[in-house]
Amino acid sequence: MKKSSIDANLIKKYHQDIVYNYAEYPTKDHWSLDFNGEDKKKALVKWLSENQNKPIFFYVHIPFCEQLCWFCTCSKVITKDYEKVKDYLVYLHKEIDLLFNFLNENKIKLNVETVFFGGGSPTILNRDDLKKLVDRLKSLFDWSKVVNFTIESDPRRVDEDRLLYNNKVCGANRISFGMQDFDSNVQRRVNREQPAELFKQILTKEVRKVYKEIAFDFLIGLPGQTTETIGVTCEKIIELKPTLVQLSLMAYKPWVAKYQIQMLAEGPLPDFLERKELLEIIHKKLSAGGYIRTGFECYSLPDSPMTKAFEDGTAHYGASGHQTGGPVNFIAVGSSATSNLGDDYYSQNFYDIASYKKFLDQGKFPTFRGMKLSKDDQIRQHATQQLRSYFKIDFKNFEKNFGIDIKKYFSKEIEYLDEMIKDGLVVISDDGIEMTLLGRDFSQNISNVFDKYDPPTKSYNERLATIKKAKAEQAKIQELI
Ligand code: SF4
Repeated sequence: MKKSSIDANLIKKYHQDIVYNYAEYPTKDHWSLDFNGEDKKKALVKWLSENQNKPIFFYVHIPFCEQLCWFCTCSKVITKDYEKVKDYLVYLHKEIDLLFNFLNENKIKLNVETVFFGGGSPTILNRDDLKKLVDRLKSLFDWSKVVNFTIESDPRRVDEDRLLYNNKVCGANRISFGMQDFDSNVQRRVNREQPAELFKQILTKEVRKVYKEIAFDFLIGLPGQTTETIGVTCEKIIELKPTLVQLSLMAYKPWVAKYQIQMLAEGPLPDFLERKELLEIIHKKLSAGGYIRTGFECYSLPDSPMTKAFEDGTAHYGASGHQTGGPVNFIAVGSSATSNLGDDYYSQNFYDIASYKKFLDQGKFPTFRGMKLSKDDQIRQHATQQLRSYFKIDFKNFEKNFGIDIKKYFSKEIEYLDEMIKDGLVVISDDGIEMTLLGRDFSQNISNVFDKYDPPTKSYNERLATIKKAKAEQAKIQELI
C-alpha cells in the first residue's frame, strides 16, 4: 500500500481495538434487560403526549436475505424459503396492530415524516406483500406527511421495473443500496458479487427521476481492498453518481459472526493503518469527484437533500446512518428493531425471531432491553451526536438546549483533550470544540472522550469484560423465555 500522509505514530497512538460508532449513546451494552414492554408503553405515552407534533422516523425491520455476505453483522436470517418470510410478516403485522391499538387507546397520533424499511433485505418481499405492508401503515397514520420513504434494496434482486413499482405503487422516494465495494476480487472474497454494470442497468433515467436520494453503503476493511482497488471503486461510484455515499468500517467480530473467518482464507484483512490509508484515498477521490463530506462517514452531492440538511443543521446520525430531517425520534417495529424516543428513552426488540413471536403471541410488546436516559446521558448523547454529525460541539447550542455552561460541565473532558489539541486533532475556541480536518479521521476517538461508561482510559480488557457481561446476561434471558 502507498504511504499515508497521516502520521502513522498518531494512528498507533489513538488506535483502540474496541471502538464505538455512537449511533447510540449510551451504547447498547449498557442498556438494561429489566426494561420490558410495559416500560416501553409508559415511555411511549409519556414522551408522545409531551412531544405531540415532533416528527417521527418509523422504522420497519425485514430480517431476511437470500445469500450471506461474509462481512455481515446485521440481524438477519438467510433463507430462500419465502414461507419463512410470510410467517414473519404475520407477526410484523401483529406488532404493528398491537402498537397502534395501544396508541389509539391512549389517543396518540403519530406525526410520521420518515419511513424506512431496513434489513436484512426488504426487497425480498414480493410486490403484493410489500404493498400490503405499506397500505397497512397508510391506514394507521397520515401518510401525506411522509417526506422520505426509503427501501433498502439488494441490487441483485431488483430491476428497473421493480424499483419503479416501489416508487409508483408503494411511494418509496429514497433507495439505499449495499454497494460495499466494486472490485471483483473483493466481492468474491466476501461472497457478494454485484458488478458496477448491474447498478448501471438498474439506475436508469426513469429510476433517477423518481428517487430524490440514491444512497450507496461503502464498507472499508474488506479482504483484498488496497489503495489501488479502492481508487477504482471510487471512480465507478463517481460515474454512477449516487446522491449519497455512506461509509462504515467493517466490524470484524468472529465471536458474534463466526462465518467472518472465511474472509481470511486468502490473507489478512487491512489493518488499522491500512484502513486509514483507504479512507484517505476515498476522501481525496470523492472530494475531487464533486462530493462534499457531510458527516464523519458521509459524502453527498452538493445539490442533494443530505448536503442541504448538513448546511442548515438538520442532519443527524443514528442507527440508520446519516439522515436528514433533524433529531431522530425513532419508533421501530420488527425483530431487533431499536426505538429511540427523543433523548429520553431507548428500547430494542428481541433479536431472535422465536422470542419475538412468543411475546407477540402473548399479546406483549416484544421488548428485549432498553434504557431511560439521565440528564447527563442526554448531554453526552447530544455531544457525541454533534461530533458525529457536524464535527463540533457548539457551546451556544448546549446553552440553548440544556441551559448549561458546557465549558464548565465538560471541564475534565476539555482537560483530557489537551493531548489531542497538541496533536492537531481538535481546536477549542470561545465558541466551541471543533475537529480539524485531520481530527475528522479520529472522530470516534474524540467522541469517546465524552463517553462516561467506556471512556478512553478504559483498557481493552475492561471494554471486553463489559461486552462479555452483556452477552452473558442476554443468553440468560434467552434461556428463561
Ligand atoms: S444483504 Fe445485507 S443484511 Fe443480508 S447478509 Fe448481506 S450485508 Fe447482511
